[in-house]
Amino acid sequence: MDGSAPHGELSAALLVLEEQPIADADAALATASALQARAAALGDAALEVRARLVRVTLRLRTGDIGGVAREVFEIHEWATRHGDRLLQARSHMACAQVARLSGDAAKHLEHAVSAVELLDETVAPDIQVTHRTKLADALAQTGAIDAARLRYRQAAELARTAGQWQRLMLVLNNWAFAEYDNGDAARAEEVVGRLLAHAEAHGLELNPRDLDTIAWIQIANGEYAEAERAMRLCIARREAGLSDGADDMAEYLVTLARAQRGLGELAQAQQSLDASRALCVDLGLPEVMVRVLQEQSELLAVRGEFAAAFAARKESFAAHERLRSREREAQAQARQELFATTEARQEAVRFREQARRDPLTRLRNRRFVDEELPAMIAADPGLVVAIADVDHFKRINDELSHDTGDQVLVNVSRLLEDGLAAVAPEGFVARLGGEEFLLVLPATPVRVAAARLDALRRAIAEHDWTAVTGGLPVTVSVGVGDPSPSSPSAALSTADRNLYAAKRAGRNRVVTGTPRDDVTSPAYAASSGP
Ligand code: GH3
Ligand code: MG
Ligand code: MG
Repeated sequence: MDGSAPHGELSAALLVLEEQPIADADAALATASALQARAAALGDAALEVRARLVRVTLRLRTGDIGGVAREVFEIHEWATRHGDRLLQARSHMACAQVARLSGDAAKHLEHAVSAVELLDETVAPDIQVTHRTKLADALAQTGAIDAARLRYRQAAELARTAGQWQRLMLVLNNWAFAEYDNGDAARAEEVVGRLLAHAEAHGLELNPRDLDTIAWIQIANGEYAEAERAMRLCIARREAGLSDGADDMAEYLVTLARAQRGLGELAQAQQSLDASRALCVDLGLPEVMVRVLQEQSELLAVRGEFAAAFAARKESFAAHERLRSREREAQAQARQELFATTEARQEAVRFREQARRDPLTRLRNRRFVDEELPAMIAADPGLVVAIADVDHFKRINDELSHDTGDQVLVNVSRLLEDGLAAVAPEGFVARLGGEEFLLVLPATPVRVAAARLDALRRAIAEHDWTAVTGGLPVTVSVGVGDPSPSSPSAALSTADRNLYAAKRAGRNRVVTGTPRDDVTSPAYAASSGP
């Protein structure tokens, strides 16, 4: 990536969206789209893909995985292809989200692990902390609480060492919630204790997410009045715009309702619940809706309305079922999109492979040579190229048939390829066109190469051609290119010149020599001849 002003500025703006808590998802989405357009205008593909991932991740927050999975996989492939480790890590995290929303806990964990593995010490500590925390969350959700604890501890340590106090709050909050969710209220309380002490020591305000976690634990302890106070503060701060989640208000209102029910404030509890339910409907939050319906059932039971409580319970089960089946659908869709992406890639690889082979002989073709030879020559000063051309091939076509000509080409190809593979397995044969073949021998002294090529020539001349040509001989002439060629065209023009010399000298021979001493190499001239 370019470090110049517009690129650097764009990158910094993206980093905010990537790493900072997002309060307003719509605004963030608009910003990400604008940044993506600017990256495109600058022609900076890496920044463009980063912006795209931000947009996709924001869409995932609303639980919408339709079409998103495919985009996530594409971005992940891009990052992998370009060796962009941080983007790879981030896209793994997005894949983890897709898996989580599909109810696929194992895949969720797998991606979270891969994301953390990709981060080396060059990555900023705040990013390390977030990724490790997300891995710990994934572990906790699969019930691996010990492994989760270890990651939370590491993340907390990293945050402390880097003086990332806000981030340390996030780690402790998630840790406390994981302990609570795992049924260990005492440990949860202990972690919350650390969170509070830390906030106090650094003069940090508790954010809504922290207060919600605290209230959950207070409710578990029967401390309803404290929990209600915490939730009122939580909601007030959320309304003041302090939030690290875009759709969390609905959740806070359920927690408040639960505290109010504990206090016996049944009317207020109902109000809170109604408000939450409205948000769930407005924003489409099926997970929170399940909680709303469960709490509704409890509330009705406390009011003695057992029939209604039972109905609400049934409704909550149904909502839960719908959620599960939506997850299953999402999982199927994600798999299908992953499959389509993989298919498309394999198709592209197959197509590229096909385009670089000659259909008749299955040898590499000229396109392959044009694409690969320059780099091979640059990387290997000892590389030798040679051109082999079938002698009097026109005669075979004319006297026998074009089909027979084709058969000869196929057979010559096999003899060249097998012969070369035996002596130079790193080399290759390509069909340049017609009855002309390129032979490439890596790191070979020219004299050795000439001897090997002569053995190939002899193998063709001595091959039993009766079955194909009915006794008409098949031979090839070979021109060898410069030692240490400076470019493909230099190598090929010498090889061509030497090939022409071989033809003039009577065919069925190998000729080496530079353009200056354009002479038949006596050793091979002597060895040739039918
Ligand atoms: P020389 O020894 O000088 O190389 O003579 P030649 O007859 O081999 O060379 P020339 O270039 O005159 O003829 C090559 C012929 O190869 C002409 C063309 O019709 C034929 N040819 C080119 N491609 C194919 C192919 O794919 N199949 C067949 N059967 N013939 C082909
Ligand atoms: Mg020929
Ligand atoms: Mg020819």
